[in-house]
Amino acid sequence: MFRIEETELARAIEAARKLHPTVRVVAFGEYTCTGSNPLRIYTVKCYRDPQGFKTIDCTCKTQDGVACKHSMAALALHLYMAAVRFAAMRQVQRRKRLPFSV
Ligand SMILES: [Zn+2]
Repeated sequence: MFRIEETELARAIEAARKLHPTVRVVAFGEYTCTGSNPLRIYTVKCYRDPQGFKTIDCTCKTQDGVACKHSMAALALHLYMAAVRFAAMRQVQRRKRLPFSV
């Protein structure tokens, strides 16, 4: 587990680029990611901890406080999904402001 705001990510991002993993969505904020051995699958969770820090949890054996390649691969998909979700919510809010539905 590590907080994005407090962790060096560059090495893990580079490792994720070399890994070419398969990332799948379980739910918004929960993903599976293949490892170096494609038969090994890790679960990655992206969430805000009770103090409000963006936190990532991976089931691999990387120690706490260090970013792993699986979490960086899953984070890329999570950020994309969060952006799409945010855009959809803004669209709904805009439609609510219109006097008629479009
Ligand atoms: Zn991992």
